[in-house]
Amino acid sequence: MNYDYDLFVIGAGSGGVRASRIAASFGAKVAICEDRYMGGTCVNVGCVPKKLYVYASEYSAHFREGKGFGWQTSEPNFDWPTLRDHKSDEISRLNSIYDNMLAGANVKVIHGRGKIIDPHTVEIAGKKITSERLLIAVGGWPFIPDIIGKEHVISSNEIFDLESFPKQLVVVGGGYIAVEFAGIFTGLGAEVTQLYRGDLFLRGFDDETREFAAEEIEKKGTNLRFNTDVTSIEKQPDGKLKVNLNDGSAIMADAVLYATGRKPHLHDLGMENVDITLTDRGYIEVNEQFQTSESSIYALGDVTGGMELTPVALAEGMALAKSLYNSEPCQVDYSNIATTVFCQPNIGTVGLSEEQARSEYKNVIKYRSSFRAMKHTISGSQERTLLKLLVDGDTDKIVGAHMVGPDAGEIMQGLAIALKAGATKADFDSTIGIHPTAAEEFVTMREPVLD
Ligand code: NDP
Repeated sequence: MNYDYDLFVIGAGSGGVRASRIAASFGAKVAICEDRYMGGTCVNVGCVPKKLYVYASEYSAHFREGKGFGWQTSEPNFDWPTLRDHKSDEISRLNSIYDNMLAGANVKVIHGRGKIIDPHTVEIAGKKITSERLLIAVGGWPFIPDIIGKEHVISSNEIFDLESFPKQLVVVGGGYIAVEFAGIFTGLGAEVTQLYRGDLFLRGFDDETREFAAEEIEKKGTNLRFNTDVTSIEKQPDGKLKVNLNDGSAIMADAVLYATGRKPHLHDLGMENVDITLTDRGYIEVNEQFQTSESSIYALGDVTGGMELTPVALAEGMALAKSLYNSEPCQVDYSNIATTVFCQPNIGTVGLSEEQARSEYKNVIKYRSSFRAMKHTISGSQERTLLKLLVDGDTDKIVGAHMVGPDAGEIMQGLAIALKAGATKADFDSTIGIHPTAAEEFVTMREPVLD
């Protein structure tokens, strides 16, 4: 059977673009379709604009803390449209880089929504295109629970481009997105309340790290309210939003951000036309080669419900292209994937939490250091840093590393290599530190914390 393409990719996000570009480099005839923005969530309404906003939000602390170092400035004034519009310019630049990069790689780019018609056919704007294989890389979409007043709330898709700066912001949720945006808007000068339904946010992260982060985040000015949920949201005549809470109280807000998780973006994809099995949570089920139950259709990235991280989707795209088009069967190793929550200060983590380590290993040795970083001896800030290592006492291997502190993301990337290479505590101990840094504590912690 003759097909128009060898591989047709639906969704030009991180995973889809990587798979299509690499497959084409191996000689496959590839096309990709995208109905929103080139680069997907990460480039347009995720990692990239988020990190730019994190940088923006950190300046307020720099201005404040600079006084202790002799910098005398008048009260700084933040202009939201400047940040928003500069961010949009940068995203447009990246969008065209993606278009050009794909064209340069010999991948046909089709702007439009792809709908699967059968295991080898996709329809875009009434035109049918056939391919030997299809790849679904459509990512996820913000999930907002059904609450009274849902129409008044925004998600991470909208928060970047608000017309005016929300002086009072309510953030609902306790995952990455909620914690990061609460920090961003606190830093930019908004009065932020973060509501989380459980006892402590960032479920799944190391408990001690979560507790420490909560204390630091509160010091920065975010109002954290745990065991709290929204019962309804009412729009007031002056446009303000009244957020009614389950404890009977209410908060007024200019905007309410719901960051309550994401769902696979399968709407109108034509899933009813093929025989693709979904997981209990509604994600596309795939085997280790990213193949769905429909043998000609593959899926990767957030739509498959694994670790919803850009570098994971990139690794999956690469593995798929190599396996299918370079006779190089490969699987992604999901162990020891480092991750960072870009709150202030950052939470960086790789490997197991203390709770996971203790359930997996009999003899866990914990090292912990918490201190006020040198900068804050004269900055006036009360910020503290936490470093923590978890060691399997039987093999001396480091099984988890956690940090709450400035640049924890940057630092954790290096530690991830060490963990991946199987580093032991003895390796850490024999490594000479870089002085004076906060990270040097990772190689100078000698006394275990006794249970
Ligand atoms: P998460 O799944 O991380 O967190 C969702 C949060 O919403 C949880 O705290 C959850 O509570 C809460 N929640 C879920 N349903 C409800 C509800 N009905 N009412 C109230 N609260 C609710 O999702 P995010 O949206 O924050 O992020 C999605 C994914 O994107 C992340 O898992 C991460 O993989 C990725 N991401 C990564 C980033 C990074 O690498 N820095 C940055 C941003 C996103 P509970 O814990 O009780 O279930």
